[in-house]
Amino acid sequence: LVSRDFHPRNTIVRVCDVSIGEGKRPVVVAGPCAVEGEEQILKTARAVKKAGADLLRGGAFKPRTGPHTFQGMREEGLKLLAKAREATGLPIVTEVMSPDTVGLVAEYADLLQVGARNMQNFELLKELGRTRKPVLLKRGMSATLEEFLAAAEYILAEGNPHVILCERGIRTFETATRNTLDLAVVPLIREMSHLPVMVDPSHATGKRSLVAPMAKAALVAGAHGVLIEVHPEPDKALSDGPQSLTFHGFDVLMEEIRRLNAFL
Ligand code: PEP
Ligand code: MN
Repeated sequence: LVSRDFHPRNTIVRVCDVSIGEGKRPVVVAGPCAVEGEEQILKTARAVKKAGADLLRGGAFKPRTGPHTFQGMREEGLKLLAKAREATGLPIVTEVMSPDTVGLVAEYADLLQVGARNMQNFELLKELGRTRKPVLLKRGMSATLEEFLAAAEYILAEGNPHVILCERGIRTFETATRNTLDLAVVPLIREMSHLPVMVDPSHATGKRSLVAPMAKAALVAGAHGVLIEVHPEPDKALSDGPQSLTFHGFDVLMEEIRRLNAFL
């Protein structure tokens, strides 16, 4: 079902009034790693909206490596995201981690994110397949492209065709970056599948200074959009501060993307 052989035309996924997968302008998803409080998410939502972002991201359920770190605000975080949507009009993207919370998260989110760590949580994928909400499926950090596409197949096989694939870096021997951004999969996915493809240069690099260059590279490689972590005070972020852009950094990137669009 995900293969281009059986579906030659690009799938366009609609999230509220935003279309992802069109040949036109790429889509920018921006926001903090995690929702940390009302002021933080509202401030960020307004800043990224003003800079030209299309969707607001923010984690309420966070898949943290260790259990002693901030795990997310859960439903309280979802409510704050809904408030931020009301304030800015930006559709919201947030992660869902388990099959039993799909209903809850889907009440608030416009686009449901499956994190890298859950790419092969097959019960979660099947549950998402039974909804009609669009899904942003991130590539597992050790998943081959074949496994990535097979994970998407689970969602489509249950009847939900609204899936966006997201490359977010993979584990390699290289330790200078958090992950290794596998940009070649962008044109390769476009050859093999009709589904839209996005790139997350924030988690792929783990390093603020690398986010803008890799975001631009992703768009040149053919990505239909990018996902960028932005925080009002990255040094104080409860998660992923080192890779989060400041508002100013995001403004600069958006200006560069606008200029780049003229050539795409
Ligand atoms: C995220 O987007 O906040 C996240 C946890 O990403 P990933 O699943 O790609 O690590
Ligand atoms: Mn993050």
